[in-house]
Amino acid sequence: MHVHLRQDDMLRNVTPFTARQFVGAVCMPNTLPPVDSVERYDRYCAEIRAAAEPYAFEPYVPLFFHEGLTREVLAPARERLFGVKLYPAGVTTNSEAGVSELAKIEPVLDVMQDLDLPLLVHGETNGYSHDREREFVGVYDHIAKTFPKLRITMEHISTVEAAAFLDRHENVFATVTLHHLLYTMDDLLGGMWNPFMFCKPIIKSPKDRAALRDLVLSGHPKVMFGSDSAPHTEVAKRTEGAAGCFTAPVLLPCLAQFFEEHDALDRLQAFVSDHAQRIYRVTPPKREVLLEEATWTVPPRYGSIVPVNAGQVLRWRVAG
Ligand SMILES: [Zn+2]
Repeated sequence: MHVHLRQDDMLRNVTPFTARQFVGAVCMPNTLPPVDSVERYDRYCAEIRAAAEPYAFEPYVPLFFHEGLTREVLAPARERLFGVKLYPAGVTTNSEAGVSELAKIEPVLDVMQDLDLPLLVHGETNGYSHDREREFVGVYDHIAKTFPKLRITMEHISTVEAAAFLDRHENVFATVTLHHLLYTMDDLLGGMWNPFMFCKPIIKSPKDRAALRDLVLSGHPKVMFGSDSAPHTEVAKRTEGAAGCFTAPVLLPCLAQFFEEHDALDRLQAFVSDHAQRIYRVTPPKREVLLEEATWTVPPRYGSIVPVNAGQVLRWRVAG
């Protein structure tokens, strides 16, 4: 329920990794330019479907949030729209600027609540990198209280605080990535710096990871899998420090291994599929994906992209 497929050649190269394992995905709109109009939305969905062939694949593309998303824009297309994704640059709870920014977005949120259009949020402030998500929880609280009928997804939660916040409001949900479930800061920079593990929000402490694991392994009904698989070329990762983990090729095998190790394989299906269908009220095409216990080694790279877990031996794989 959270993947970056990019555009052009990158889109055509990476989409099959997702379409092979999943019948649908929330495909994020932060392309260049962003998917911020209904026209771009229609075009981007068509491009993704074409790139996914021969798989039947349903792209759920949230529109990129901006103040021009008025009722006149959203209402006529409501039936085919999925939601809106907010990347709230500069929004903080306890500064004047933050409050005024929040006030500016509220007319759009009001329309979305009316139209029952979900809000997906990258919930980080501009503060110290480790505290950005913790600081943002107050913003979630404000939005959830002000718009009690608006479904709000806290994307890629990574902290104890976000996990604890989940049950404070009925209308708040969350996605959790593979890398925040499996890894901690030590995997990123405890030994040699691993640029392929660098992402935002940054992977955090064992305590934060434990809170996410508890949430996911308990089968919490408001928690969905969202990979945040975000490809960059190896050059961009190594020389420009681009943020984003490319996990698409290893998602289901790694999740199966993780759930098996915690004696919770029976909860995998709900985490990757059922919860999201209920929360988002979507019905993607039916397809069964068969996982089998068989070892394989993750390739060092796929074209110009280095995946997370490159070179590692995994114990599960997606059968043909
Ligand atoms: Zn993302």
